[in-house]
Amino acid sequence: PLNCGIVGLPNVGKSTIFNALTSAKAQAANYPFCTIDPNTGVVTVPDERLAKISALIQPKSLVPTTMEFIDIAGLVEGASKGEGLGNQFLGHIRATDAIAHVVRCFDDAEVVHVAGGVNPLHDIDIINTELLLADLDTVEKRYAKVEKLNKPANADHKVKTEFAALTKLKDVLNAGKPARTADLTDEERLIARELFLITAKPQLYVANVDDSGIIDGNAYTAAVEKRAAEEGAQVVRICGAMESEIAQLEPAERDEFLKDMGLSEPGLNRLIHSAYRLLDLITYFTAGVQEVRAWTIKRGTKAPGAAGVIHSDFEKGFIKADCYASDDLFTYGSEQAVKEKGLLRSEGKEYIVKDGDILFFKFNV
Ligand code: GDP
Repeated sequence: PLNCGIVGLPNVGKSTIFNALTSAKAQAANYPFCTIDPNTGVVTVPDERLAKISALIQPKSLVPTTMEFIDIAGLVEGASKGEGLGNQFLGHIRATDAIAHVVRCFDDAEVVHVAGGVNPLHDIDIINTELLLADLDTVEKRYAKVEKLNKPANADHKVKTEFAALTKLKDVLNAGKPARTADLTDEERLIARELFLITAKPQLYVANVDDSGIIDGNAYTAAVEKRAAEEGAQVVRICGAMESEIAQLEPAERDEFLKDMGLSEPGLNRLIHSAYRLLDLITYFTAGVQEVRAWTIKRGTKAPGAAGVIHSDFEKGFIKADCYASDDLFTYGSEQAVKEKGLLRSEGKEYIVKDGDILFFKFNV
């Protein structure tokens, strides 16, 4: 499954947020929660549609979909030069699919700030610079090799393409811009993917505020939001300390607490949804009397690929999928009514599955 790495300077609240995300209480009660290792957590993706479908279909069980978060501690200034086990941590970031960059936006004299004082933009620059330098190192090493291969006039097309990609990437990184801003062709992008560049990954910012800043933000979050807007990145405002308390509450208490705070949902839900969008993921459902279940696919996946998420045999033997929109189910109240309205379609191999589709696969075994 695709995952999102949580990065940031030490003491900004990464572990607090990670622990809240993965605490058993924050998970749907009937989902077998599992931890892969202490730094990797499987998190259920909150989805109101699941409960709404279940209310209409009354299945025996209900299974949410999940995504992974990875807590990547230990990134410090100088990491790209190997400071503080830097290379090891950069390696962990390289293996993620997207990055949630936590920035400290709260004052607290009790919590030491590693870079002198609370200054979110300075913190962002430190981390982004380390990630950029790590990528520049990767690109320059590869560039030196490919430059030689590219010398002969009859160099391979693949070599030429890679060289063109590396040249662009080197320029962008040297200008202090992330690799994701490089203007690569589709072919170059495909080759560049093998470099596992960190700054090519999509990134969002998590502004960790104290509870006074949760509704309206504060001067720190305003600075982060301005920077993010310049980069075209999202910001999720969250209070790590409060989220870890919320995560310990029973559902009824939790709703009460959120209402008192003037919030409609835990900040963690917003973080999970933002990360899900950042990864370009969507959800479809299977809905039968035995089980209603949410499944995750990459946006743009065709019906056979979506079936393959359930079982590879479903993909191999795919014939067709009966399909309707969950919104139509909510409007008309039952699958039968959706059918009578002519909104239940039969879709073939080329159908691109949409977020919220309810699918029933027909396949050969
Ligand atoms: P990490 O090093 O980035 O993983 O940071 P931690 O999650 O260990 O947090 C560092 C310290 O900041 C801990 O003492 C936390 O209790 C505290 N902390 C985390 N989030 C908040 C917050 O939202 N407000 C306040 N006041 N303290 C926080």
